[in-house]
Amino acid sequence: MLQKIRYKIAQFMVGRYGMDQFSQFLGFLCFALLVIGMFVRGAVINLILLLLLGYLYFRVFSKNIAKRYAENQKYLEIQSRVKQLFSKSKYRLEDMKTHHIYRCPGCGQKVRVPRGKGKIEITCPKCREKFIRKS
Ligand SMILES: [Zn+2]
Repeated sequence: MLQKIRYKIAQFMVGRYGMDQFSQFLGFLCFALLVIGMFVRGAVINLILLLLLGYLYFRVFSKNIAKRYAENQKYLEIQSRVKQLFSKSKYRLEDMKTHHIYRCPGCGQKVRVPRGKGKIEITCPKCREKFIRKS
């Protein structure tokens, strides 16, 4: 019986696109909305959830494989960009612990100075103006 169902599903999926990373992400979004919907009552959330689910099923069962593949590539591209953004801001946060950024009073140029050196004289690399700051 189970094997028959499995066979039927396999047959149904022939020539169809199936799951990819983008669909997985959509599934995750649906799940998140479902959880949010348990705490926040609102028709909007349910509507978005329904639309997302519809789109997810549409993608998985789609026969236009080339188009779905292109969508997934685009999703992967955006995903890697977001990841890069996060790692950059993480670097910034780490950097803030050891360095301080001052603005030159003369020209507004940003100057990066190590922290914890007491009062230091900073020379602006752009306009050569000297100013004293506590680091
Ligand atoms: Zn300057």
